Amino acid sequence: MVKICCIGAGYVGGPTMAVIAVKCPAIEVVVVDISKPRIDAWNSDKLPIYEPGLDEVVKACRGRNLFFSTDVEKHVAEADIIFVSVNTPTKTRGLGAGKAADLTYWESAARMIADVSKSDKIVVEKSTVPVKTAEAIEKILTHNSKGINYQILSNPEFLAEGTAIEDLFKPDRVLIGGRETPEGRKAVQALKEVYAHWVPEENIITTNLWSAELSKLAANAFLAQRISSVNAMSALCEATGANVSEVSYAIGKDSRIGPKFLNASVGFGGSCFQKDILNLVYICECNGLPEVANYWKQVIKINDYQKSRFVNRVVSSMFNTVSSKKVAVLGFAFKKDTGDTRETPAIDVCKGLLGDKAHVSIYDPEVTEEQIQRDLAMNKFDWDHPMHLQPTSPSAIKQELDYQKIFDNMQKPAFVFDGRNVVDAEKLREIGFIVYSIGKPLDA
Ligand code: NAD
Repeated sequence: MVKICCIGAGYVGGPTMAVIAVKCPAIEVVVVDISKPRIDAWNSDKLPIYEPGLDEVVKACRGRNLFFSTDVEKHVAEADIIFVSVNTPTKTRGLGAGKAADLTYWESAARMIADVSKSDKIVVEKSTVPVKTAEAIEKILTHNSKGINYQILSNPEFLAEGTAIEDLFKPDRVLIGGRETPEGRKAVQALKEVYAHWVPEENIITTNLWSAELSKLAANAFLAQRISSVNAMSALCEATGANVSEVSYAIGKDSRIGPKFLNASVGFGGSCFQKDILNLVYICECNGLPEVANYWKQVIKINDYQKSRFVNRVVSSMFNTVSSKKVAVLGFAFKKDTGDTRETPAIDVCKGLLGDKAHVSIYDPEVTEEQIQRDLAMNKFDWDHPMHLQPTSPSAIKQELDYQKIFDNMQKPAFVFDGRNVVDAEKLREIGFIVYSIGKPLDA
């Protein structure tokens, strides 16, 4: 029986391994983590992350061929294939601070692998890492190898939070990069055989190591760039009377552009896009390519601009101050169908409002109060619970929001600022609200 161990039981490690386990009953999959609360949660009925469909997948194979454990060394030592899915945040100090990826967790995982291994291993980069990381990992492993053969593969993960299970069941592609040596090719083949249990052969792409590592950064940069492009257009729409939804529809009909990922919004968030673009910028700078670095920096600049533009719109609409005014923020996670609040634009929006002394009430059915308080911990603010908004699930929020009742209880004029263009603006205007939608003609 092939044994897989995944180091890191987070948003990527947990769901990816659950899907491998459910699709490959003959493979034993153990997900390990140094965080005991996280492993305890994976072994309980309340999983540590919210992801549609995840509970069912975990229930189907946990205890059969899927296990979660804090006994990191034991399971690493026993594994044939080790996925490393630890966090790779942006460095906060030292060389490259604010841009470069912090590979501390990766390095300690690699050193631990070298310490405990007694048999040959395939080590798979699942985390998003800078291009050429495999070279550094190889050095750490081979210099401590005790005669063990290590093959490093790059197998970046392209899942999106909120649709992770769907993405993993039907990936657009699985990318595997390896060394172009006989041993490297053998390792690529071994990993390919795992995915081949459910992914069609033509969707499994194999490349050299550096192409695979760079493709992940490139994919996130392109996706974020698309959001910044449509958001930049949304500002121009507001200035000219064009409607960004109509513009997106019109340009998306061009088959060279395509309709996906063209929704204007308050900006992108999440733990990946900004971090990975900053990482790309740093790599360009280190490789003597400042013009290329500047090009990608603009994607983040427009995103920051969009968030502050939104806050400024709220404040200016409410007669240039929100001081002591009650503002309810619906939704705090960085996107729908997730409880993940890392780098959510809601933090910037709330900070902006709190900075102008608004009384902010925040509600998100997938986010706990402690989480919100932690995310805003750097700010002093008035914690003011929403009175009329206590739904319990994303579907309930749609059913239970009684806008007429909300309107009746609000000071007038009553405003709705839609950072995702999801409300029925016409209906709300009929009730009497003044509605601001991103990139659309404004109310008179
Ligand atoms: P995460 O923070 O949710 O999970 C990482 C886990 O690794 C944590 O539970 C942490 O305790 C554990 N860990 C750290 N060092 C360890 C060690 N030495 N031994 C054992 N466990 C250790 O992070 P994530 O969101 O799952 O992301 C992981 C990687 O995948 C990152 O590089 C990220 O950029 C990339 N990625 C994330 C997403 C996403 O949507 N979140 C998508 C694709 C790729």
